[in-house]
Amino acid sequence: MNLFDICENVLKYDDFIIIPHINPDGDSVGSALSLCSLLRKLNKTAYIVNISENMPKNVDFLSLDGFVAPSDFEYKTAFCVDCADKMRLFDNEVFNKCETSFSIDHHVTNNEFALFSFVDSNASATGEVIHSMYKIFDILPDKNDAMYMFCSISSDTGNFKFSNTTSKTFKIAGELYDIYGEFSDITRAMYDEVTLNQLKANEYVLSNLKLVMDGKIAYSYVHYDYLEKNGLSFDEVEFLSSLPRQIKGVEVGMFIKIRKDEIKVSLRSNKYIDVSKIAASFGGGGHVRAAGVSFFDTSFEDVCNKLIKAIENEIKKRYE
Ligand code: 5GP
Ligand code: MN
Repeated sequence: MNLFDICENVLKYDDFIIIPHINPDGDSVGSALSLCSLLRKLNKTAYIVNISENMPKNVDFLSLDGFVAPSDFEYKTAFCVDCADKMRLFDNEVFNKCETSFSIDHHVTNNEFALFSFVDSNASATGEVIHSMYKIFDILPDKNDAMYMFCSISSDTGNFKFSNTTSKTFKIAGELYDIYGEFSDITRAMYDEVTLNQLKANEYVLSNLKLVMDGKIAYSYVHYDYLEKNGLSFDEVEFLSSLPRQIKGVEVGMFIKIRKDEIKVSLRSNKYIDVSKIAASFGGGGHVRAAGVSFFDTSFEDVCNKLIKAIENEIKKRYE
């Protein structure tokens, strides 16, 4: 289904409940807010599921006031954003209770679980797709909408730095700038402003860093014990996910979060390895250069061994 068909069908439904993915990130929050605002501008009733306790730290300055669904809201239509799989929805129950479902996403691993699905894996962020919806409906984003979409796109492109950043991304950013104005306060809040303990986490993660395969693979971890001792949340060390791949010569970087009941791996690549494929082979997913996968009931060593082996195999293929 193309985006025009999605937009045409949106007009036929009402009472939307917007559902991002679990552990929402800047893209899912920014796209949920800008979509909610767009639906309201189309005279629809729309709210977002209650993500207020799960706001990602880098965009927690975005206010959810008036956007979170009141408990008695009788929603009818689910609108999923930035979520590749039904099992990864922030609220599966809400989705199941809806008569109709829409989904807008940009993950290459999206399995089109909604009745009306649109996936643009060339879009840097779901926020880019929402921007196209504003265009299709010929609705001009207001200042807040521009801020939401900027946060969404900036978040998934590492502030216009990753390989998913295209001329379209820059063009949209230019249009958003013309509406919002200077974004420097927002980018400082999203990337530069950290607490002293967050900054110190760099030291910890660097001390845990290991290089294998002649420096083509780098990985490090953060343990929940360390975070608890330093009053930090996993969310607050998210900015270190790309640190291992920063090293010159590294093709794949892994950042491993050791939670009490889960080992969560963030995979990042630089030039030629499709990490979404590797993540998918272990039940995860994501994008070509940034993907993730969770492991349960296993050890850190086991996770490292499995993943390193899989990555090594992929890298070796290139040299065969
Ligand atoms: P991150 O490493 O920052 O958690 O995630 C990188 C990308 O991979 C994001 O687009 C995220 O949605 C996706 N991703 C992370 N973990 C998983 C997972 O367990 N399953 C799937 N399907 N995608 C994931
Ligand atoms: Mn996204």
